[in-house]
Amino acid sequence: MSRASAVNAEERDLEQAEEPALPIPLHAVSVVTPPVVDREGVRAAVSDLLTALGRDPRSAHLADTPRRVADAYAELLGPHEFDMTTFPNDGAYEEMVFVRDVPFTSLCEHHLLPFMGVAHIAYLPGQRILGLSKLARVLDYCARDLQVQERLTTQVADWLEARLAPRGVGVVLEAEHLCMSLRGVQAKGTTTVTSALRGSLRDDRRRREEFLSMAGVRR
Ligand code: ZN
Repeated sequence: MSRASAVNAEERDLEQAEEPALPIPLHAVSVVTPPVVDREGVRAAVSDLLTALGRDPRSAHLADTPRRVADAYAELLGPHEFDMTTFPNDGAYEEMVFVRDVPFTSLCEHHLLPFMGVAHIAYLPGQRILGLSKLARVLDYCARDLQVQERLTTQVADWLEARLAPRGVGVVLEAEHLCMSLRGVQAKGTTTVTSALRGSLRDDRRRREEFLSMAGVRR
């Protein structure tokens, strides 16, 4: 099951439930267990890649490169598990919770090159509120994968909607893609902006404009 369909299954479960589900570990609910990186396999493949690139992987300069590359991919593709801490919204807080400029790095699945930037993530609380650092944790968890920016944006929004049952969710990602700035059109400094809106932040015009204005999205 893909991560996206796992999220959809979770949404269906929530629709049937009267109360929002209690927080349980992320890996148990919405995202499939990430694939294990076979470091030995990556080392052998990188050694072959160096040979195919006309380099000698046995040279002193490159001898340890396959191991370093394997370690780098294991880190970039190894999400950190975390507990989803939520709290009752005892104060009946109704306004938007907005976290701006959360940095992230992910790997483009088309070129295996990084794309990096910042996220602006907001939600309108329902019966529960979220530890603020968890917004960054969710983003980081989803980003440590072979991704496209559109899917990463949607995953973060769907995940928050399913786990927190808020009245609305807004996610904006701004990122530079190295596959676009270093090669191809070499459009250095170009920023790609994606957004995903859910609930009132999508359907209520005043809320939507408030979010997009706080996110600095030009319309
Ligand atoms: Zn790419």
